[in-house]
Amino acid sequence: MRAEAKLIDGKAHAAALRERVANVVARLKTDHGLQPGLAVVLVGEDPASQIYVRNKGKQTLEAGMKSVEHRLDASTPESEVLALVEHLNQDPQVHGILVQLPLPDHVDSAKVINTINPAKDVDGFHVINAGRLATGQDALVACTPVGCVLLAKYAMGDLTGANAVVVGRSNIVGKPVAQLLLRENCTVTIAHSRTKDLPKVCRRADLLIAAVGRPEMIRGDWIKPGACVIDVGINRIETGQGKTRLVGDVAFDEARKVAGSITPVPGGVGPMTIACLLRSTVLAACAQEGVETPEI
Ligand code: NDP
Repeated sequence: MRAEAKLIDGKAHAAALRERVANVVARLKTDHGLQPGLAVVLVGEDPASQIYVRNKGKQTLEAGMKSVEHRLDASTPESEVLALVEHLNQDPQVHGILVQLPLPDHVDSAKVINTINPAKDVDGFHVINAGRLATGQDALVACTPVGCVLLAKYAMGDLTGANAVVVGRSNIVGKPVAQLLLRENCTVTIAHSRTKDLPKVCRRADLLIAAVGRPEMIRGDWIKPGACVIDVGINRIETGQGKTRLVGDVAFDEARKVAGSITPVPGGVGPMTIACLLRSTVLAACAQEGVETPEI
């Protein structure tokens, strides 16, 4: 009988990455008197966003960086959100700006994101950073996609020549993941809701990245034996009697019997996202202050 897939431990990899970030931050302080700073802007009271923002602030401080939080009322006019972003653009102690999405309906997310100074856009959503990534130039890259590719490399080593299938084409996950995989010399297929015979497309993948937002949509028999499966999905499902649990976009128990390696949900891609945000903030700080880019 085939052995079960190796679990890719996102928590452990994220902890190791945070430690490397903290070591670099300590060196920047002693060698250059530089303390990277991250500002997070939260508009409204979305419960999930509040948890993300709290965790981001906590982990930023634990890494030895400066953390600034701006919590605005849900009814804050767009002009005030834009003015805050402009203010943070000018603040020399702030090297990274993250505006927590989703924003309330009356605030134009694209307008807010594109007001961030691209050099401080640690979420990598600014059109300049997206364009730089797509044209192979140095860019600040969205954190979840970077986390996915790091986990794939931990599991598979060099990705050159691998057939990668990305299911999902959003601007925040699917497209940037695909761009990063091209940079790693994969042969990349991007699948989406109009893809014909998705199971067949997935079965070609040596590396399958699922970023769909549909609980357990990708079944075990869609997976090529031995493939690496990175599950980005975070879906909360009812399990009865008022209880819920988190599942990914991949039917984990089935996939585990076929794949060579797989990320769990929770504990896979999720923890990598904040660790990559801290890393991006350090890289952004070094670029802004003219300090040589450290290896993290
Ligand atoms: P979006 O809803 O923006 O995009 C979903 C994508 O999946 C779309 O491109 C859509 O195709 C495609 N899709 C939807 N249904 C199907 C289907 N039946 N078959 C094939 N493709 C389909 O989601 P996001 O990219 O923002 O997020 C995806 C998942 O990742 C979510 O579960 C989200 O919670 C999670 N996530 C996790 C993060 C983390 O830190 N771990 C961070 C960000 C997101 P089309 O374009 O044709 O509509």
